[in-house]
Amino acid sequence: MTAESMDATGFENRPGTRDDLPWLNGLHRLRQAGPLTPAHRVRDDGEAISTRCVHAGTYEDRATGAVGTPIFPSTTFRFSNTTYESFLEGYVRDIPTYTRYGNPSQWSVQLKVAMLESAESALVLSSGMAAIASTLFALTNRNGHIISSYDLYGGSYNLLHSDMHPMGRSVSFVDALDLTQVEAAIREDTQMMFFELLSNPLMKAIDLLKIADLCRRRNILLVVDNTFLTPISCRPLEFGADVVIHSGTKYLNGHSDITCGAVAGSRKLIDRVWAQMLRFGGSLDPFVCFLLERGLKTLAVRMDAHAARARRVTEYLESHPKVLRIYSPYSASYGYPVLHQYCPELACGMLSFEVVGGNAAALTLLEKLRIITSATSLGGVESLASLPFNTSHSGLTLQQQKVIGLNDGLVRLSVGIEDADDLCRDLRLALDSIGSTGEGS
Ligand SMILES: *Cc1c(COP(=O)(O)O)cnc(C)c1O
Repeated sequence: MTAESMDATGFENRPGTRDDLPWLNGLHRLRQAGPLTPAHRVRDDGEAISTRCVHAGTYEDRATGAVGTPIFPSTTFRFSNTTYESFLEGYVRDIPTYTRYGNPSQWSVQLKVAMLESAESALVLSSGMAAIASTLFALTNRNGHIISSYDLYGGSYNLLHSDMHPMGRSVSFVDALDLTQVEAAIREDTQMMFFELLSNPLMKAIDLLKIADLCRRRNILLVVDNTFLTPISCRPLEFGADVVIHSGTKYLNGHSDITCGAVAGSRKLIDRVWAQMLRFGGSLDPFVCFLLERGLKTLAVRMDAHAARARRVTEYLESHPKVLRIYSPYSASYGYPVLHQYCPELACGMLSFEVVGGNAAALTLLEKLRIITSATSLGGVESLASLPFNTSHSGLTLQQQKVIGLNDGLVRLSVGIEDADDLCRDLRLALDSIGSTGEGS
């Protein structure tokens, strides 16, 4: 590769690629693409997010005119001079060589995620946990310190709790809602804060703007898990986060039929996560990329549908005498209004509620549901209910559960896109069947 074909950042300036980037001065637009080929659709005239869901990143196959991205199952790609140069010059991420390193099917869906999250670059991985592990290890180093919350997805908590210390990182767990605690945890060696925007299952929202400001002032990377809100509700990079992570298994794919993860941020940071992913090996299979890309096309309409039903279900549960408390951003009693600062158009299907009669009654409730399935996970078109005490939070001691605020009888609901009246009727029949002592009646 000659010096003339390199741009100032050192990435290859492929003919046609630069000219395809009219977004360069756009406010929330990608400033630098990548990786991509000239066939990848990256035009951006400031389209709305639902349009991006459908079109962004599509591989427009010029030979056939196919309207959708082809699947590139090939694990390896014919060497060219550019391939050799990419190894020597260090831009391997931009050239298809071997699928763990990069593949046009991955690039399509990565570009879509990047353009939805207002990121320069994105990476897809084999699970949300692969995304989290690769990011935490890539962006910290030995003797580094991470601040996180004890109110975290169980897998993330376990990773931080069990695996970071043996690898030379230390971790402080704080109450992310208490900014004084967050600030007090900062040390000389603090390199990263890692938080979820909306906690599971109580829907506690962190003060993203204040935490981002704190991180900026103290030169700490802010990584957030945006699985619950999705870029339809919130694009954390626009509010000061450095990196955003998703379990794509949930809303991004939306059909409870693939496991995948995604990371988005600046090209510089995502390049480092990519290099870590190469070593850990959690790359995403091209067939799964195809499914994720297909799922993402309907993300905006699905989230609107989830939101409309979650709103109705919240209203219904609030009126039911067997429901003691409801934790829903659609509830008038929702305790974390700060969410609306960075989520002006909230669209989320998650909520929790406590039933009269404690965990025994909650178990009965799950058994009686007919449309809503008793299962873990979330974010799919089908409604799912689970009890945090015996699933997601079963690893916590009773005392830890109390600290987080998990009370007896708590039910978590991932509201799907079924008819709202059907969902409310299903809940009514199940709620009516539990006695106030918790026994089925
Ligand atoms: C499910 C989930 C994860 C883990 O994702 P996997 O795809 O199961 O690896 C991480 N964070 C949150 C908030 C989740 O809900």
